[in-house]
Amino acid sequence: MEGYMPAAVTRQTNRRKVYQYIYQKSGAVTAAELAEALSLEQTAVEEGLASLLEEGMIIREKDSACALEPRGRVAVGMFLRDDGIQLLALDMRAEELGFQELSLPFAHTPEYYQTVARRLEEFIDVSGLDRDRLLGVGIAIPAIIDQTAGRLVRSPTLELWDLPLEEIYSHFSHYPTFIENSPNASGYAARWMNRERTNVIYLSLDRGVGGAIIQGDGQYMGDHGRGGEFGHMRLVPDGRLCSCGRRGCVEAYCSISRLSDDLGITLREFFTRLQAGDRQAAAVWEEYRTHLVDTLVNLRTCFDCDIILGGELSSYLEGLLPELCWELGEKTFFEEDSLFLQLDRFGSRSVCAGSALRFIDDFLLTY
Ligand SMILES: [Zn+2]
Repeated sequence: MEGYMPAAVTRQTNRRKVYQYIYQKSGAVTAAELAEALSLEQTAVEEGLASLLEEGMIIREKDSACALEPRGRVAVGMFLRDDGIQLLALDMRAEELGFQELSLPFAHTPEYYQTVARRLEEFIDVSGLDRDRLLGVGIAIPAIIDQTAGRLVRSPTLELWDLPLEEIYSHFSHYPTFIENSPNASGYAARWMNRERTNVIYLSLDRGVGGAIIQGDGQYMGDHGRGGEFGHMRLVPDGRLCSCGRRGCVEAYCSISRLSDDLGITLREFFTRLQAGDRQAAAVWEEYRTHLVDTLVNLRTCFDCDIILGGELSSYLEGLLPELCWELGEKTFFEEDSLFLQLDRFGSRSVCAGSALRFIDDFLLTY
């Protein structure tokens, strides 16, 4: 019977439309406004609102208008790094509900994953999250991942090669989980922020260097899901040895280890020294910046769009953007072209943010 739709499905569709409309608005909306905007009967709107109120997804304000309850659902993003883990909880508006950074060297062992799972439970409690409202836990790792085959292909940073993702998933089966490559997760966060749906390149600057190619609503992944591995573009012929075993890669020059681990200090200490006028720090930064700018010029020449800088480095770059842009202007292929750089809103938490935001987006589409 063409056009026939069971009443329950219609109710769910209407509720979703009402929720999505309220979600898009920054303030409260009345039932009359919803009915007009969505071309729905007032009774259908009232029915949707009642259901959303009952589920705690919206709140009723004094004048009976309704607004989003940001904590109606929550999501957690987890970043498993070589030296520790990061945990971030976000509400439906991507506002932070909790963040933790813990020192825990990576090891692909049951003991390691059991510790991470225990820390996750503690984090959920400390952040005051309601487990019934938790959409899922995104897990990001610095590794090339083949989602179709369900395998981790390789991770020089974690020293892992070709293993089934199930070996990681199986330790987190309490919650919906999704394992992904960490630069892709940061790229997803950048895509989420990219409200104007423009083309954007995301360059993630951590110990590992990676990125993502964002095209409006989507992300270009390449034929094998490896698109955006900017860290392993060849920058210097026969140059410095890279973690991938080749020489001269971007990562060998633009890893934050060049500014921290190599000098036996933290990144924060490095930038404190740089600001204080330390000569050694200034020389190291100049060399780093030169390679970073060369990489940015190459990306801009290839993609002709804005570039967002993310990863741990991005939280230190605000005061240094003018000098970066000046050097870009000197080297750019395109004329008078240097104002295409932005910094990631989530800063050093962008990997976790992207992993959590996937669950929020999925929920918005399917609720
Ligand atoms: Zn490399």
